[in-house]
Formats: sequence, structure tokens, C-alpha cells
Amino acid sequence: FHVPKAVNEPVKSYAPNSAEKANVQAAYKEMWNSKIDVPLYIGSEEIRTGNTRNMTAPHDHKHIVGTYHLAEKTHIEKAIANALEAKTKWANLAWEQRAAIFLKAAELIAGPYRAKINAATMIAQSKNIYQAEIDASCELIDFLRYNVEFMTQIYNDQPKSDSLVWNRLEYRPLEGFVYAITPFNFTAIAANLPASAAMMGNVVIWKPSDSQVFSAKIIIDVFKEAGVPDGVINVVFGDAQMISDTIFSSRDFAGVHFTGSTHVFKDIWAKVGSNIHHYKTYPRIVGETGGKDFIVAHPSANVKQVATGIVRGAFEFQGQKCSAASRAYIPQSLWSEVKSQLIFDVKSLKMGSPEDFGNFITAVIHEGSFDKLAKYIDQAKADSDAEIIVGGNYDKSVGYFVEPTVIVTTNPKYTTMETELFGPVITIYVYEDTKWADTLILVDETSDYALTGAVFSQDRYAIEEATIALQNAAGNFYVNDKPTGAVVGMQPFGGARASGTNDKAGSALNLLRWVSPRTIKETF
Ligand code: GLU
Repeated sequence: FHVPKAVNEPVKSYAPNSAEKANVQAAYKEMWNSKIDVPLYIGSEEIRTGNTRNMTAPHDHKHIVGTYHLAEKTHIEKAIANALEAKTKWANLAWEQRAAIFLKAAELIAGPYRAKINAATMIAQSKNIYQAEIDASCELIDFLRYNVEFMTQIYNDQPKSDSLVWNRLEYRPLEGFVYAITPFNFTAIAANLPASAAMMGNVVIWKPSDSQVFSAKIIIDVFKEAGVPDGVINVVFGDAQMISDTIFSSRDFAGVHFTGSTHVFKDIWAKVGSNIHHYKTYPRIVGETGGKDFIVAHPSANVKQVATGIVRGAFEFQGQKCSAASRAYIPQSLWSEVKSQLIFDVKSLKMGSPEDFGNFITAVIHEGSFDKLAKYIDQAKADSDAEIIVGGNYDKSVGYFVEPTVIVTTNPKYTTMETELFGPVITIYVYEDTKWADTLILVDETSDYALTGAVFSQDRYAIEEATIALQNAAGNFYVNDKPTGAVVGMQPFGGARASGTNDKAGSALNLLRWVSPRTIKETF
């Protein structure tokens, strides 16, 4: 079986006077005042429960972008019933037909929906245009195209047979339904978690983040237009506890595809464990959770590369990436140069609304996040073992703006060296050059997480030492590059320890979690 060879979607430049710039600006303008009203999508119905919540723009939080409807328990039960009703037909549809639907969805995003999904991501998730393009357009398209290719590889992977015995592996979907819980920080992940399970023949209940409803609506519109049948992906909003409790108490719950915080994911494991005698099958639990991602520079490192790695790794999309660099270890001999370069680079970052394409930093996602960041920044100002060398201001009068902030500490176990803040703050510890080996141990032991990390060095032996010493400290390990921005088809993404089940998003490993194969032996 063959499918079109997956290619990564080229990133558009949004140069002045370009058609793509004009298109996305027009979409932004129109959608800013659209007062969109987003229903639940259950089976063939769009349900408006009347119990609504407002969607606002993080960079202008008094501006109401639209509303969305919240589900009651009965809606979740209805979604489960609709999913199960759609299941047999969808599971038995030839896989080529499912592949064709998702390939078409990729092309709809690449073409007619591109400006809209980017604008929605800019408005309600406050990404600047370049980050919206990379996430909501390119990465989303790449997930769909590559997963179709990986799906084909899986279906083509068949056992040996001979003239008397024909052996087949039939890659059936899971028995029951899959629950997808998705985060605000990547529109691509929001689309991929329900789509990857659905692609393998599963039916899905999808609960997007409250802060990602606008782009979620465009995703479901695209999936429907591409031909995803009613009931295959059902979208619900509302109280997360109630939704999860209803889903986890269903006998037909067969798996959860999750991206979000570590504590919520641990609660899911506990909940599923406590219901285990009740389920028809052992549910698959697949999740990507937090990170406390590191940069460690060796004395041989190139200073400019290190500074750029810190600035881009820590501050792109306001540091709201599981993969964002949030602790760095710099040798004493490089520190004064790295420090001046960093202060210079960070001061040149412009902060403001994503509507202005010159802004690199926009607002953080909501007040809870803003307040948490402000608290840690204030603490660093007060603590004698910490110092803020650049940034440190914040203001929520219009939007939730937090300046990119660099804290330097003399305590390698300082709170912000250990705690995930999920915002534009990085903490640096300066180590003595002779303590390279000890520093690698420190990097490994300081955090419970193991998502991403980077080593900067021009010395091959040092790179090798870091690669070995940090083999369990990061599922995605970068050499002389920032620890963010994994590209589908190039760097399969995910980590272990408290960072997740490491089922590598954008790979055949992930898709294999959504099948329950049957081996058929036929004797002639
Ligand atoms: N895949 C993204 C990256 O490599 C991060 C995803 C996330 O933050 O959840 O930067």
C-alpha cells in the first residue's frame, strides 16, 4: 500500500506586502469582532446548552471574542453513546478511506483555513504570527500527513507466511472509545490527539482546553468538511472533573490521549486504576506532561549560540511550551560574555499584541498563569540567593503581560531551578569550570522531569559525556541547539519520568498505542 509521501509544510514568511500577511490580517480583523458562539459537537448535532462562558483575548482580556457552551453530565453520556454508535462502521471502513479524510483535512488547513486557524490562535491563545504559522498551520498539517504515512507502515508490517499457512496481523482499533484531553499551548497538539486515535479507527470524545476553544472550533469544522463522520470525534467543553468522572466510569472507556499538567495526569492514572475492575479492556494511558528543561553549556561552547539558545528556548511563545528552556548551567569562564549578550538580546525583544507583527513577546494565557509568574518574580527580587539581571516587570491592566525575565541564582536547588513555571522566566546557575562532571549530575538530579534538554559545546568528548550522563534526563536531547521546536517527521517528541509516557508524538510508536491487533492464522 502506498500513500502520498509526507512532506513538511513550508513555513510562510509573512513578509511586508505578502499575500499571506494581508490574508491573516483580514481574518484577524474580522474574527476579532465575530462574537463567535461555539456549541458542543455530539454525533450529528451542534448543541447549545445555554450555559455559556466567555472567550477572551489574553493580550486584551476585557475583549470578549465569543462564547462557548458547557456540557452537563447527560451531554457527556450522550457523546459516549454517539461515539459507540458510530464505532462499528468507522472501524470497518477501509483504512485508505480514513487516510484520505485526514489527508484532505491537511490540505484544507494548508489552503482555505490557514489564515483563519492562524488568526484564531493569535487572538485567543496570543501567539504571534510566526508561532501561529509554525504551530496551527505547519505542525498541524505535518502531524496529519506523517501520521497517515506511519499508519501505512504499521498496516504493511505483516508476519511471515508460507504456502501452507497464511498469517495476518489485523490492526483493529481499541474496543470502546478514546478520550482526548488537549492543552491551550499548541493548536497542532489539540488536533493531533483526537485525530491520531481516530485515524487508527477509534471513536473519540475530545475535551479541548478552555483557552483554546476558538481554534478547536476551526479544527472540528475542518475535520467535518474533510469527511470525518458524525460521532467519530465528539467535542465537549465544561467542568473537567465532571467530564472526566463521567468518562472514567464508563465500561467502554478504552484509552486516554493527554497533554497537560503532571498532577492532572497522575490523577487520571489513579482514577483509571480505581475503576480497573469495571472496564471491558485495560485502558491505554498515553500522556505528555510537564518539563523543567535544561541548557547546559561546556566551557568550550560558542557564546552567541548559547545566548540565542536561551532566548529562543526560554521565551518563544512566552515560554509556554512543555519543552521551554527554564534552567541553564553556564561555566564561570563564559558567564560575563553570556550575560552581556543575554541582556542585550532580551532588551531588544518587543512585547505587545500579536496584531503587531513586530512583537516577539505577547501575553501569557490567563490571570492564573500571570499571578503565578508574578509571585515567583517577586520572590526572586526578595531572595538573597537570587538576582534578576533582565526583565522582572509585569502588568495585567490590559493583557497578561510578563516581561521575559532572567534570574541568576547562587543556589543550584533554588525554587525556580526546580519548579515548572510555564512562562517567560529562566533561571541560571553559574558553575565553576572544573566542575563539569558534577554539573551534569546536578542537571540530572535537580528535576523530576525528563522532557527536553540541550548541551552546548565545541568539544566532542564533552558532548559525549553529557549525552551519556543525561541519557534519562530528556526524551528530546539537543546538541548545540535550543531544546524546543521539534519538527514532525524529524524529531519524534516526548519524554519520560514526570514528563509523560514517552510515546513520541508524530511517530508510529504513538499510533501503535491506538490499536489492538488480532493475529489470524489460516491453514490451507
Ligand atoms: N513539540 C513542542 C516542541 O518541541 C513542544 C510541545 C509542548 O509544549 O507540549 O517545542
